[in-house]
Amino acid sequence: MIKKVFEKPLSWLERILFIDFIRGLSVTIRHAFSKTITTHYPYEKLTPPKRFRGFFGHKVVDGTEPQPAFDEWVERFKIEVEPGRSRCVVCLLCKRACPVPQLFEIEGEKLPNGKRRVSVFNMNMLLCTFCGFCVDACPVDCLFQSDIHETASYSRKDSVLTLEVLERIGRDWQRRREKEPDRIWIDDAQRMRLWYENDLKLPEVKKQ
Ligand code: SF4
Ligand code: SF4
Repeated sequence: MIKKVFEKPLSWLERILFIDFIRGLSVTIRHAFSKTITTHYPYEKLTPPKRFRGFFGHKVVDGTEPQPAFDEWVERFKIEVEPGRSRCVVCLLCKRACPVPQLFEIEGEKLPNGKRRVSVFNMNMLLCTFCGFCVDACPVDCLFQSDIHETASYSRKDSVLTLEVLERIGRDWQRRREKEPDRIWIDDAQRMRLWYENDLKLPEVKKQ
């Protein structure tokens, strides 16, 4: 059934005094002098929250690996642990969890001492939906999503994140943001700038 919606006709007083026009103009004027809630991108850039799902990285071995999971997976797959290099244990769980697994190219190599390490880890960002399933699947907190979001490139080749690039993003992230508390906003000043403080005031919880 089609519901017909008719405009409410203006009264003769509204027609003579331009009431609707004045109402509309008052909204415009009110907002013209209120606090700006947008930023002047790209001249003004906000740092995304820590949980932002941007470009990927590989966290490197630095002594902060999740234990005992890391040691167990290293033992199971006989991985050569190298400080400063990717934590990847070549388990392929990220690729298995991905709805577009062909975007991954992962290979391991055998070392003379019989142990293994990741040798190829390519991620084609042109196919990625940034769903984060791969990150959730990683058992050793190696693969993660960083705050890098300016990802335009001039060639398709540059959209493929290689192991070297992933490790570089990981090192940069661990230096800059790893120790930050896991919260949505970096600080309240930034949040208040975007959302008015009063808009966010939650009703007080009455103590029993
Ligand atoms: S974010 Fe989603 S689509 Fe992208 S690589 Fe991870 S699992 Fe695949
Ligand atoms: S799930 Fe993590 S450890 Fe396993 S292959 Fe992917 S990045 Fe490497």
